[in-house]
Amino acid sequence: MTNYKDIQDFKGKYPRQLWYLFFSEMWERFSFYGMRGMLVFFMVDQLQLDKVVANLQYGATQAFVYAFTFIGGLFADKILGYRRSLFWGGLLMIVGSIVLAIDPKEFFFLGIGFNIIGTGFFKPNISTMVGNLYKENDPRTDAGFSLFYAGVNLGALLGGYLCIAIGKRQMFENLIPANMAWHVAFGLAAVVMVISLLTFTNTQKSLGSIGLSPLQHLEPKKKRAYEYLTYIGSLAVIPIIMTMVSKTEYTDMFMYIIGPASLIYLFYEMRYFSSTENKKLIAAVLFMFFSIFFWAFFEQSGGSLSIFAANNLSGTVAGIPLDPNGVNNSANSLFVIIFAPLIGLVWLWMNKRKAEPNTLIKFGLGFIFLAIGFYVFYYTRFFTNKDGVTSLDLFSTGWLIITFGELCLSPIGMSVMTKLSPQKLQAVIMGMWFLASAYGQYFAGLLGANIAEASKDSSNMETLLIYTDGYKQLAIYSLVGGVLVIALSPFIKKLMGGVK
Ligand code: GLN
Repeated sequence: MTNYKDIQDFKGKYPRQLWYLFFSEMWERFSFYGMRGMLVFFMVDQLQLDKVVANLQYGATQAFVYAFTFIGGLFADKILGYRRSLFWGGLLMIVGSIVLAIDPKEFFFLGIGFNIIGTGFFKPNISTMVGNLYKENDPRTDAGFSLFYAGVNLGALLGGYLCIAIGKRQMFENLIPANMAWHVAFGLAAVVMVISLLTFTNTQKSLGSIGLSPLQHLEPKKKRAYEYLTYIGSLAVIPIIMTMVSKTEYTDMFMYIIGPASLIYLFYEMRYFSSTENKKLIAAVLFMFFSIFFWAFFEQSGGSLSIFAANNLSGTVAGIPLDPNGVNNSANSLFVIIFAPLIGLVWLWMNKRKAEPNTLIKFGLGFIFLAIGFYVFYYTRFFTNKDGVTSLDLFSTGWLIITFGELCLSPIGMSVMTKLSPQKLQAVIMGMWFLASAYGQYFAGLLGANIAEASKDSSNMETLLIYTDGYKQLAIYSLVGGVLVIALSPFIKKLMGGVK
């Protein structure tokens, strides 16, 4: 078997294994974002849930999905190894989407439950494996994660568009009978998840010793017992998740507990590591902390920005008629696909000239781009007509700028997690990185609800002013965030040891 050290000695810009992980993740994100894009619409239109309830439950699913990445990471580090975790997670996601395809109305929460747990086992571990393709401090790591991130968004774009369009009968309506549209839409998520898993199983040999079981030293019987217990345990949690998603008070409670619990766990684990390693772990926690704010603002996309798009944005980009909500949903992914590989190459180019900014500066830049993007959203108010409808062109430009911010923070964040964590904690740390996203999603909901509350019973013009005022506030906070990260950078840099 190829040792992972040999894999890490690859020549060229990207290791070939990155492409295999790229495609597995692309199909998984297709399935994930395809499903995510259907949730709220399906709940309101088909399950006839109240809009507020649907939004809250949607928020709960998103928070749980990312919260379970911590647990998925934990079990991967301790028991299953990344590869088996990924396989198990993929299998659960397939089952979840098949359940939904069979009867989306009847089995809605059951299907969602499977998908939440499945993503928890899949998502952090595939990202950790990307990090494992690189040696510590290999300058090509960030570029690798940027490319991987393009795969994430390619899947998100295709799935996010196709599944809902099929469900709403805006595509293939001649081929699919009306009463089968939603079955097919959820079925498509299942099919692509099968492709994801097959891509992985057919290429995993090339990963050599990366991601194998951490329990190889145990006798096989004992090892298997631990593994089966993990499988059974994860199935047993599904009914609990189903209850928690349908009663969102429990989500609040869960969010109060899971973050502190993960920190306590990390501090407990720190006993085993040297002070240099622990300092790096503290730096990792600081990065996670900052990322919560980033995602809380960024994830307005699914919440307040979609309401803003529906009410206050015109229907053309560069003269081409386009649905403003469609643009709000997909512009970001499209920009990531175009610019992620390019930015990856810019980092490599700068590195060769010894001019590449370190992770802290990249994070700070991430916030500053976010601030400019939200300022552009604010600025749309100066382009309004008398009905409070403003420029979708300018709005899309805002997304372009925010995307640059995302590219400075999200792939770089994953990359630095793998660099700052000792081998034994890699997946937990990656899980915690995504757990920060869970909080981001959660706070995004609260922030968005505040903006929405303030604009109740207002005219369209007043709504425009209230929303854009809200975005100006977010722009100011992001700017403060960026300045703070850059100001704290000498201190955090010390914690990071030699990691850039
Ligand atoms: N859009 C990215 C993904 O799905 C990042 C998600 C996140 O960390 N919030 O991988």
